[in-house]
Amino acid sequence: MIATDILNLIRDGKASTRSELMEQTGLSRTTIGARLGELKARGLITESGNAVSTGGRPSGLLTFHAAAGLVLAIDVGATGATVAISDLAGESLAERHERRNIDADPEDTLAWATDELRAMLAALGRSPGDAWALGIALPGSVDESGRPISPGLMPGWDGFPVAQRLREHFDVDILVDNDVNVMALGEARQHDPGEQIVVLKAGTGVGLAYVAGGQILRGAQGAAGEIGHTHVPGHDDIVCSCGKRGCLQAVAGGQRMADRLTAAGIPCANTAEVAALARGGTPEAIAMVRSAGHAIGFVLATVVNILNPSRLVVAGDLTDARDFMLSALRETLYREANTLATSELEISRARAGARAGLIGVSTMALEHALAA
Ligand SMILES: [Zn+2]
Repeated sequence: MIATDILNLIRDGKASTRSELMEQTGLSRTTIGARLGELKARGLITESGNAVSTGGRPSGLLTFHAAAGLVLAIDVGATGATVAISDLAGESLAERHERRNIDADPEDTLAWATDELRAMLAALGRSPGDAWALGIALPGSVDESGRPISPGLMPGWDGFPVAQRLREHFDVDILVDNDVNVMALGEARQHDPGEQIVVLKAGTGVGLAYVAGGQILRGAQGAAGEIGHTHVPGHDDIVCSCGKRGCLQAVAGGQRMADRLTAAGIPCANTAEVAALARGGTPEAIAMVRSAGHAIGFVLATVVNILNPSRLVVAGDLTDARDFMLSALRETLYREANTLATSELEISRARAGARAGLIGVSTMALEHALAA
């Protein structure tokens, strides 16, 4: 058991004295003392006052010091970006969102994000040196060195050294990951650690992530969950940006749906507007959203047959279309998937709603900072 496990027990309120730590971990007083020494040296734990003793010598009360450091987060979405600063308890201290055209130049978006983070730090009376880690989520696959790989939604970012550029501004560990992966991580922390969770994001694009044993499974090339270009039968009239026909992303991707509605004489700019039109009762939008739900359910049936997850979490702007998307998704998923695999499957919306991505990227950076 390492210092982080001890820290987590104190942080989660499961232990607040040395005796309780010994009881919970089975470790000796000497070992606990050594681990607490490491944590105190990093400013993470303070020991003060006297807890009511259960006999023997009084033990000091251990408190997690959330203000010892900060984590910085950048959540880049297809239609905008959010930056945030939180303390080591994950409490958000400052946040700023801006609608941005992110697909063109990564320099532009990263410069905006670093300027905002610096200004927010200054407003909090803190400095970049107080940051312990920086996490950034991008809408596309990312390789091991933190470079986006052929991101369909932001072609200008292909191979761009994101981590390297950010480190020029903040001398901390930089974590770069796919937006659906970080969303899945944040969502997984709100459920039982033993759960096997598939998180599907239906927004401008469609992607999924899988968390088992508390870890995101990224695959050999970091491309696990890239289901956007999986063929869905019955949609060969729709040509995808990749050149193939009937790809899931072309059928159920929010931007493509918005474009088709606009072409049909119903002006619509993005996924949020598609969902708003469906909520407002526009028949063409409802039909399109339901069709997207069926297409997603069809692909998810195979995913569920292979992974047999305990929970399916559905996130993204398209889930705001009342229940049109989710009900169609369920209908097709239950029809197409193995009955045993769906018998206990819990299907729910992301608990954090629209903030799921930001919470996920903060969680990723925070867990890295505390484990370091
Ligand atoms: Zn495609």
